Amino acid sequence: MFNDRKKCLCAFCGNIKKVYTQKNITFIHMVLCFMVSLFFMWSFWQTWDLRSALVFLTCLCVMEILIHIRWRLSLVCKQCGFDPLVYLKNKNLAASQVKSYLDRRKLNPNFLLAPTVKIKPIIKNSKSKNSVPNKKIIPSTKVTISDKGRELQNSL
Ligand SMILES: [Zn+2]
Repeated sequence: MFNDRKKCLCAFCGNIKKVYTQKNITFIHMVLCFMVSLFFMWSFWQTWDLRSALVFLTCLCVMEILIHIRWRLSLVCKQCGFDPLVYLKNKNLAASQVKSYLDRRKLNPNFLLAPTVKIKPIIKNSKSKNSVPNKKIIPSTKVTISDKGRELQNSL
């Protein structure tokens, strides 16, 4: 319960980050919610009351939501802003989020003394599918003359 964080590497920048391993409530959380409901029951009604079950269920729901939000926020890298779950669903959106995070990071004075993000530049291989080796640039034979060009021709 107290040591539920795990060190892992960011898939984008390679920095070490700590991620919460639990994304749902456990038995210990249920016991804590039960104790809170007992506290409410004895402080408000001073006897056994079934309304404390409602407090217990509400406490369970709030605990589940908070633990899930904590897990979700811990996945995002604080150095580069990379979110692996967004990357699995939409790669372009993840790339734009990292770009905007790095732009905001440049302007934020809180990151002046922070370590720099070490991102290796992407070097495209010349043998990849998109590149065409020894491509010759052939000028187009079709020439269009704009109105200003015609005026210049007429003036000469
Ligand atoms: Zn990162």
